[in-house]
Amino acid sequence: MNRSTWIAALGAFSTALAFPVLAQTVKVTPLGGIDGEFCPQDRALIFEDPNGTRILYDPGRTVAGASDPRLGKIDIILVSHMHGDHVGNAHNKAPNSGTCEKPDVSVSAVPNTSAVNIALAKKSKIVTGSEMPPFFAAKLKANGGDPANSILARFGGSVTVGGVRIATVTALHSNGVDPDFIGGDLGKAMKDAGIAGDVGLATGYVLRFSNGLVVYLSGDTGILADQELVVQNYYHAKLAVMNMGDGFSTGPSEAAYVINELVKPASVIPSHANEVGTVGGKVRPGSKTEAFMKAVKVPAYIPLSGKTMEFDAAGKCTGGC
Ligand SMILES: [Zn+2]
Repeated sequence: MNRSTWIAALGAFSTALAFPVLAQTVKVTPLGGIDGEFCPQDRALIFEDPNGTRILYDPGRTVAGASDPRLGKIDIILVSHMHGDHVGNAHNKAPNSGTCEKPDVSVSAVPNTSAVNIALAKKSKIVTGSEMPPFFAAKLKANGGDPANSILARFGGSVTVGGVRIATVTALHSNGVDPDFIGGDLGKAMKDAGIAGDVGLATGYVLRFSNGLVVYLSGDTGILADQELVVQNYYHAKLAVMNMGDGFSTGPSEAAYVINELVKPASVIPSHANEVGTVGGKVRPGSKTEAFMKAVKVPAYIPLSGKTMEFDAAGKCTGGC
């Protein structure tokens, strides 16, 4: 070796010693309706920090309640907003019940919500923004849980739980509480009047894992300036989970604009397609999922249920993609 090679080798060695954490990965496992597919109701993702902390994002309807064997230990539950397909107003009997096209959502989770039922069983913390924490605290208390397990992370600040820094960011959406989650005479009166409960604005999240990976979870949202000003310019998100189902949130072309021009992550996982996104694990031709995949300039990875993907600190997929 000549002198410069030695210096380069020494440099690489000391970098590896100084930043072993950067080589660690965050594991992302979708808990969808059918193993190996991307189905209409799929929202739920489990993020596992290198330190073992496990986070369930938007349980929705495809996590088969608290007894779903795929859950394992759940330390933290994130709920972007109160709509039934995110907080979970109903769910399947077991993973893989029903079909991708016609999912089984036959088990009701009202008035508790699936998020609360899972939190009670797993003794998880529920970390939400806006004015959602008092709702979850009241549900936990009413069911014998600890209301202190409902934790606030309102816009602009962050909380660190299990070594993961959690911040909420704005989402351009609505966030009404279905009267079915309220129940009783009040719930009935609200239902008859056609109004929902108010727990403030819908949210997205930015998570910073212990290996340094920063992840943006869009929640249901339209295009908004904060995606550049806050999520990119301040947090520097390297992996994005982008809702792209159209009608209720950005569609494939709007979602691709958000990724290409505003958030600019290294990788993206499309979510919330509200369609049969894959058949036999392959993107369905003519689907919104295909349109999104074609429109984004960065690598996009389909969240196939049960298939774990691993991402390093730079947002690069290092396994399972
Ligand atoms: Zn929604």
